[in-house]
Amino acid sequence: MDIKVIAFDADDTLWVNEPYFRQSEEAFCTLLEEYLPRHELERELLKVEIGNLGLYGYGIKGFVLSMIETAMAVTNNMISAKTIGDIIELGKQMLNQPLELLDGVEEVLRALKGRYRLVVATKGDLLDQERKLKKSNIANYFHHVEVMSEKDDANYLKLIKHLDIRPSELLMVGNSLKSDILPVLNVGGYAIHVPYHITWAHEEIEHSIDSGMFKSVECIRDILGFV
Ligand SMILES: [Mg+2]
Repeated sequence: MDIKVIAFDADDTLWVNEPYFRQSEEAFCTLLEEYLPRHELERELLKVEIGNLGLYGYGIKGFVLSMIETAMAVTNNMISAKTIGDIIELGKQMLNQPLELLDGVEEVLRALKGRYRLVVATKGDLLDQERKLKKSNIANYFHHVEVMSEKDDANYLKLIKHLDIRPSELLMVGNSLKSDILPVLNVGGYAIHVPYHITWAHEEIEHSIDSGMFKSVECIRDILGFV
């Protein structure tokens, strides 16, 4: 391996994210429980969210709009302005959530800094990701922060070009096989999967990965055994 750059996914790799979405989804289902059972609401919301990704992209603001749209659909437009206000408030609570770094993150960054160029490669809302990075107090470890609208082959190639490296000089570390691992392997980079205990349904994939450029570890500290 001749790795020059290690890129880290942010949400659920560096810091806690998905549990806040789950909490809001729970609260959303409670607001609307008189209209539909929880599992049906969850299914409707996921459908609306995925349908809106192309328009709104990833992140909390799009999630709030999708919750409102779902609420309108399942109540036949009978949803009250009060409930819409409650949904908006759920989004604001998420945006104002204190930032919680995952265990081992800072220790790993400290060990790697100076040996590699470290970057953040994330999707989501630009403003929100910048806010989280600032709150995290780890921004100084990174040489570059890339917020992508979609983590696909083309955008990883763009990042590789921007960093002026060959694909095989990139190692990506992340919790999503679909967004952090597969596209990086596709373009010829190395990838290490650090699973998080919950994954958004849209990020789940069904197949296993067999590649000499891929490793799966249990926690972020384990990557120090490979670099
Ligand atoms: Mg992630």
